[in-house]
Amino acid sequence: MPDDRHPPSTTMGFSTRMSHAGRPSVRTHGFVNTGVHRGSTVLYPSCEARRELAKHRFEQVMTYGTAGGPTHYALEDVVAEIEGGSHAMIVGTGLAAIAVPLLAYLKTGDHMLMPDSVYGPARGLAEGMLRGWGIETTFYDPLVDEAGTTALIRPNTKVVFTESPGSHTFEVQDVPAIARAAHAAGAKVLMDNTWGIHHFQPFQHGVDVSIQALTKYVVGHSDVLLGSVTVNDETDWHIVRSVGAAMGHYASPDDCWLALRGARTMPVRLKQQSANALQVASWLERQPQVQRVLHPALPSHPQHALFRRDFTGACSLFGVVLRPGVTEAQMFAAIDGLKLFGIGASWGGYESLALPTTGFISRTATSPDLGGPAFRLHIGLEDPADIIADLKAALATLPG
Ligand SMILES: *Cc1c(COP(=O)(O)O)cnc(C)c1O
Repeated sequence: MPDDRHPPSTTMGFSTRMSHAGRPSVRTHGFVNTGVHRGSTVLYPSCEARRELAKHRFEQVMTYGTAGGPTHYALEDVVAEIEGGSHAMIVGTGLAAIAVPLLAYLKTGDHMLMPDSVYGPARGLAEGMLRGWGIETTFYDPLVDEAGTTALIRPNTKVVFTESPGSHTFEVQDVPAIARAAHAAGAKVLMDNTWGIHHFQPFQHGVDVSIQALTKYVVGHSDVLLGSVTVNDETDWHIVRSVGAAMGHYASPDDCWLALRGARTMPVRLKQQSANALQVASWLERQPQVQRVLHPALPSHPQHALFRRDFTGACSLFGVVLRPGVTEAQMFAAIDGLKLFGIGASWGGYESLALPTTGFISRTATSPDLGGPAFRLHIGLEDPADIIADLKAALATLPG
């Protein structure tokens, strides 16, 4: 029975847990799903009850709208289950989920390490606001090892940020090695785990705080923005939750409800999209116009062994590098001609997307040159044969 007497066991499969997590009967009144509970004011039975409840600000206790309600708590439970953590906080966007833990663990005079392949707006936050507040960031080669990480750490390094694989360039990081070096120096390890979702279990690999853009596969339908910050330790929870609350972070219950709906079918969507993407990626790799396909699950990927060691699967986002002779204008025209792919940012929805990456990649520690014009593909739930036919027609317009 999917109720509070029988929470899903961690030994059960991912699909089972996504079907049953976050459904205590007290929240559903007997219905299958938790409803949308909107609210600011929570009414207390007495003044004394109010004082008592205020003591439970780190628990799922309703005291005011910003403390969350049943719909938030259901999604928190589902996200904690996805990430294998003890507590999750839901915020309005994936970017907010990056900002909250950075602000929680960094103060003026501190130093942070961030991979050169980090999600662009995270770099923007470090180079803009955080730098302005006297927080220094060193961007590092995402392929750094344990000794290399140790060499980059300074006495004031408080955060080592990771994202694996990297945005647009798909380098797989040795997160456990980086985490060992960070922890030896007393720094916290933060990870943007959006690509990995449940395929990378952050807390089994030394991560302290895991960030997800729920906007992607959890929502899954390209119609809601949400983010989550997950931890696996009571002290980290108090730090992250306090800062999120102090800054007034909140997510709409309507959006949380849509994310809950998405989460129930995420395992099956992800499985299908992942299979479709691998089929498309393998096909692309064999085409004369294509120089390289940047997909960690392909044996040709430089960190494929690391991927096999730490991930249980891939999602459906990867990169394609064309032959050096292809011009940017030719690539743009080929992408513009695709019929089944939308040209747009974000990913994780049911529909396919294509986006040029050449010229949009920012690098300061490593070379941004991929050796040819590149673009990123997100593969949706369309039939792979149709997707391949669409790509085949586009590639035919390019010099081989
Ligand atoms: C999309 C994305 C985010 C940000 O999510 P939003 O909800 O769009 O703010 C963060 N990290 C990665 C890796 C992303 O792809």
